[in-house]
Amino acid sequence: MPASKGYAALNAQSQLAPFDFTRREPGPTEIAVEILYCGVCHSDLHMSRNEWGQSVYPLVPGHEIVGRVVAAGSAVSKFAVGGIAAIGVIVDSCRQCAPCHRGEEHFCCQGATLTYAATDRVDGSVTMGGYATNYVVDERFAHRVPDNLDLAAVAPLLCAGITTYSPLRHWKVGPGKKVGIVGLGGLGHMALKFAHSFGAHVVQFTTNLRKRDDALRLSADEVVLSTDEDAMKAHANFFDFILDAVSAPHSIDAYLTLLKQDATMCLVGLPDTPPSFGVFNLITRRASIAGSMIGGMTETQEMLDYCGAQNITADVEVIPIQQINEAFERMLKQDVKYRFVIDMSSLK
Ligand code: NAP
Ligand code: ZN
Ligand code: ZN
Repeated sequence: MPASKGYAALNAQSQLAPFDFTRREPGPTEIAVEILYCGVCHSDLHMSRNEWGQSVYPLVPGHEIVGRVVAAGSAVSKFAVGGIAAIGVIVDSCRQCAPCHRGEEHFCCQGATLTYAATDRVDGSVTMGGYATNYVVDERFAHRVPDNLDLAAVAPLLCAGITTYSPLRHWKVGPGKKVGIVGLGGLGHMALKFAHSFGAHVVQFTTNLRKRDDALRLSADEVVLSTDEDAMKAHANFFDFILDAVSAPHSIDAYLTLLKQDATMCLVGLPDTPPSFGVFNLITRRASIAGSMIGGMTETQEMLDYCGAQNITADVEVIPIQQINEAFERMLKQDVKYRFVIDMSSLK
């Protein structure tokens, strides 16, 4: 059994601390990956602290993984030992239902297996995430990485990237469309890059005026401070699509009134309490509130290939794993530009 060193939360109150465990040997269609980089998603913080009530301890977070293949089963065809592979939020699914056949494993009728704190379909153990030295996964759930991209800056594409790329594609964001992005964090800054790259007019909403210059540099056409009532009112009846990537409870109504008739507000942020909103704000413009979750294997590879072609990656601050607890606290203070990524060589 391959030994793994990681960092784990032992309960909802504990800091993350060093934790040793083992992975299973890779099967015929599986690869073992030595993790080089792992992004720090706000979901890792929600889960470490059991904010969604579904955590299992000890919990090794991490689902934005880039690594080097160190072993490959006899039937593996997509990767060779020595190559680079990326792993995201899903590491298995039933592989037989209609969504799985379509490459939309995140909508698997039997429920996809998450990268951590889920039951492993192969051996029934609890999955342990990417804040660790290695991972073992079926090649179907690993992705090829374009070789022109910086690997540390690629890691966040595996969750923040696909979670924003997918709804922007689904709702056909492109030239002539006015798009709002709510929250300039890990997801938000990727949404901004993609929406601009797809040709839309993009308005970044933030609670933090100090992020204004960054938002413009990241290619926002406009930046609106969400606490500025006049600036908000000036965008009434303006948007075709709004993507909300905020991690904490906040007003949805403030944005519904900015939608055009028949427009959609899509929630990807997952605060620990459900949102409330006025139905009048929906019926008076026949607006829709929608949600979206990561993306399937087919679209994740499409997104990575698009990023390779367009030279898109995340803006990252690379940290040693020993700084992970401080990074969590800084994320809560909205003090990250715009994704922490752990350099896993710091674990050795
Ligand atoms: P993040 O980097 O911490 O960014 C969250 C942003 O939300 C902050 O930068 C901030 O933007 C805004 N914000 C924070 N507190 C706020 C408050 N009290 N009021 C208003 N705005 C506030 O987090 P992330 O990693 O991007 O994740 C964002 C959310 O998406 C999390 O809840 C995460 O669990 C969820 N998520 C969902 C999926 C999915 O599949 N749907 C996938 C990944 C993550 P400003 O500073 O600009 O205001
Ligand atoms: Zn995530
Ligand atoms: Zn399935």
